[in-house]
Amino acid sequence: MSIRFFNTLTRQVEDFTPREPGLVRLYTCGPTVYNFAHIGNFRAYVFEDLLQRHLEFRGYRVDRAMNLTDVDDKTIRGCHAAGLPLAEFTAPFKKAFFDDLDTLRIKRANHFPEATEAVHIERMISMISTLVEKGHAYRADDGSVYFRIRSFPNYGHLAHFHLEDLRDGVRVSNDEYEKENVGDFALWKSWSEADGDVGWESPWGRGRPGWHIECSAMATGILGPELDIHCGGEDNIFPHHEAEIAQSECCTGKPFVRLWMHCRHLQVEGSKMAKSAGNFFTLRDLMEKGWSGREVRYALISVKYREPLNFTFEGLAGARSALQRLDEWTARLRETAGPETSESPIEGLEAFGEALDDDLNISAALAAVFETLRLTNRRMDEGAISPTEARTLLKWLVGVNSVLALELDSENISEVVEDLLVRRAEARTSKDWKLSDTLRDEILAIGWMVKDTKDGQKLSPARAPATTN
Ligand code: AMP
Ligand code: ZN
Repeated sequence: MSIRFFNTLTRQVEDFTPREPGLVRLYTCGPTVYNFAHIGNFRAYVFEDLLQRHLEFRGYRVDRAMNLTDVDDKTIRGCHAAGLPLAEFTAPFKKAFFDDLDTLRIKRANHFPEATEAVHIERMISMISTLVEKGHAYRADDGSVYFRIRSFPNYGHLAHFHLEDLRDGVRVSNDEYEKENVGDFALWKSWSEADGDVGWESPWGRGRPGWHIECSAMATGILGPELDIHCGGEDNIFPHHEAEIAQSECCTGKPFVRLWMHCRHLQVEGSKMAKSAGNFFTLRDLMEKGWSGREVRYALISVKYREPLNFTFEGLAGARSALQRLDEWTARLRETAGPETSESPIEGLEAFGEALDDDLNISAALAAVFETLRLTNRRMDEGAISPTEARTLLKWLVGVNSVLALELDSENISEVVEDLLVRRAEARTSKDWKLSDTLRDEILAIGWMVKDTKDGQKLSPARAPATTN
């Protein structure tokens, strides 16, 4: 069976075939680096990672670009508030983003273009010039350049609305200038006082690019005019991706993207993530509470990208115990496994990959893994699994884990727990039993039970993690 994905453009599940056999050109919208990315962003990045890893599991080579938006309204506001040059302000957030990718075992893209790199700014300016020449863009009285959405009949296809529904000639409130159409969007924003020292020279004077043209320029500049897949969160569909299609196709004259994939937004404890609601989490916040990267990864990955995902601490606790079951099973298989032989493969192990072929149906894929675990555990209890079979299962697990990336081999406890364990060992050496007990309670509060054995402290997940927030 072929691989099938839901295409936002057609609203249908379609067979997937890249333009060039064996090679997938993939573009994924990356972070705006004015802050630490939040776990909602990571739902998008983990979904894209699962997509890439599954395509590779199926033998495709993936050439992926993921941009960093390091100039826009938010980054400019942020750098001025911090009293720093733009690049100095964004640098720590860029670093944090890469650290977070590692924590979540997200594979590095082949390209991480940054919008402010000279080569990309040049391409943005050149694309805008082409759009002006071809009559798709115009300069307004304020000196900014706008895309003329009326010049692109397909505008609205991705978000599924009709261009006719947009009214012409409406003065936009709070703007002193007039756009031809209320939906026309900025390609180049002329410099204003609020920009301070941020700006580039262009044929339209000093200014900066609009957010949409950044992605069009970086995507086509790096991957060529025709991409196979373009991803993002559902909020990117309109206006961002609609605008990307318009700009890119009007410029290159070629169909920009074959397959558009968008993940549903992450909710936290049943509502929209917001600082004011106290449910806004960065990855760092969760690490500080004692959760590990692979636990967060599991919680984010385990619901299909097109389904709503409600992120809860109960869900994280569920991820922890699922991982523990997988770890125990792996260890058991290792004890049983013999050397590799050429015996025929075990039947029924294809279900994992086949589920992911079906529009990344991760729930079915994980169900297949846990069903195999349940059946083989029972047979291991009976001593009915041969060393060869255990070896074959372990080999299968390597393939499964190349997609899930859950690090099934090590203990994977968080640094916070490790620290507490070290301190507890010291307390015990100096016979400070009170401190030792306090530290044991602290470790329990973040979900781990400590047992003192003759070989030292041993950890196991607590049945019901005590902290939930
Ligand atoms: P931003 O930094 O806001 O440009 O977002 C980076 C990526 O994260 C984009 O693909 C967004 O669509 C995605 N994103 C933002 N918020 C969420 C959320 N709550 N759930 C899932 N994806 C999100
Ligand atoms: Zn983008």
